[in-house]
Amino acid sequence: MAIREVAASLYAWDIADEGVEAILDKLVEHAAVNSVYLVGVMHKEKRPFTSMFYAQDPKRSYYLPEDSRIYYRFEESSFSKTRLRPLGSDRDFLKGTDWLEALTKAARKRGLRTGVELSHTIADNTMVLQECPQALQRTIDGEAIPGHLCPNSPDSREYIKALFRDTVQNHDIDFIQTCMLLFSPGRPCRPPWFVAANGGSTVGHLLGVVQGGCFCENCAAAAKRMGSDWEGIVDGLQPLVQMARANMGSHNEAVVEQGLLLSSDLLESGLLLEIPALYQFLQFRARSTTELFSAIYAAVKQVRPSVEFRYNNHRLYPELVGVCFPAVRDFLDSVRDSDYSAQRGAPDGFARKRATLAKVRRGIGFDKPLIAGVAVRPKATPELVRRSICVVNDMGVDGLSLGHYDGSTMALLDAVRQGLEEAGAGGT
Ligand SMILES: [Zn+2]
Repeated sequence: MAIREVAASLYAWDIADEGVEAILDKLVEHAAVNSVYLVGVMHKEKRPFTSMFYAQDPKRSYYLPEDSRIYYRFEESSFSKTRLRPLGSDRDFLKGTDWLEALTKAARKRGLRTGVELSHTIADNTMVLQECPQALQRTIDGEAIPGHLCPNSPDSREYIKALFRDTVQNHDIDFIQTCMLLFSPGRPCRPPWFVAANGGSTVGHLLGVVQGGCFCENCAAAAKRMGSDWEGIVDGLQPLVQMARANMGSHNEAVVEQGLLLSSDLLESGLLLEIPALYQFLQFRARSTTELFSAIYAAVKQVRPSVEFRYNNHRLYPELVGVCFPAVRDFLDSVRDSDYSAQRGAPDGFARKRATLAKVRRGIGFDKPLIAGVAVRPKATPELVRRSICVVNDMGVDGLSLGHYDGSTMALLDAVRQGLEEAGAGGT
């Protein structure tokens, strides 16, 4: 297969600081980029993310974004059916400018593909708590889970649909990509330090899910609509909740059982056989996620059938946030995978990268493009960038997506073009 797309992401402040033409000059010439997208809704995360300071930004050393602002024009009236409100930037150098339009206009002059990403959290958490706290996911104890909109909340569902629909309606984009947070996966469970965990086991990740979401009233209603015994599921999960929370101090009731489980070689299937409620909970979450993807897909296709809906997988185990690729594949046009092994020096020789690409490809089939993330930021070296491109080309991917320009250096961008040549991955 030939690699047909080399995508790069930009932030509004990158464009404000360096200028869109200067950035596109570099990306096209040095990294063979033929597709650019704005991270148009960005969470509260220091940039650059994997190093302290920018290497290329001419105006600042680092940037601290606001929470979940939208960096392009939107119609307030599109959100009339939800209590959640979209928020633009309050920063003087960003507000009032449609940064997505600035990027797409410049990109089109060069014949580039254009897109936008709605990143992890797509609504300001303070606004959600003030306007509609019921929209947030809940733990089994009813505590709100910040940043995680519940896909079964009518307000969340309507806000998400309106945001996707409005974005496509008002912008010249070929694709709309998202890595929005889906169901909270809780926290992976680990035994006490003196217990030898079974290093090959992932059962701790599965156990951790019971500390995630969602157990809200809307989920209870949705589960019943789907024919599930919701009360039975919640009751059945309680012993696992005790085991997941166990620690040597304040929660010591199930600490021995937890230590035995996490040091054992019981497969995940063994735990599911013991606790059928756990499988029913996972199944309910996957059905809910599939319904959400179906709603987003219908919303964007209604506006423009040719627009591409791309899911950006950012999870080690997407199945634990509710994503079952064979179930959602009919409601996706492509998948980007966010493995950035090279930025950690690829200590596993790209084994994890191969594994995640194989998992996604098996799930979506060969008629949906698979786009591999390629890290162009520390600790990636030019050699690792070139090697990673050869690895993903061997895995039969259809495109690359650089992660991310704001952490890159010129040497790493140059390595992208060189890697494509070394891999013999023509077609860009
Ligand atoms: Zn819920």
